[in-house]
Amino acid sequence: MFGLFGKVTDPVCKMGINKKEAKFSSESKGNMYYFCSQNCKDKFGTDPKKYAVEETKSEECCH
Ligand SMILES: [Zn+2]
Repeated sequence: MFGLFGKVTDPVCKMGINKKEAKFSSESKGNMYYFCSQNCKDKFGTDPKKYAVEETKSEECCH
């Protein structure tokens, strides 16, 4: 699902965005996060733990 064509989710507002088109990104603990706007990136930057949810893990675990 995610990853094939660079489709990612903005962890702050949960908006689906294209990695190619994402102008705002940030790295946290080795993971890249992409944002729809500088505003979302700033929010993430103030409290990464709040937004760096474990979605990436759970997506693969429960099939
Ligand atoms: Zn956003």
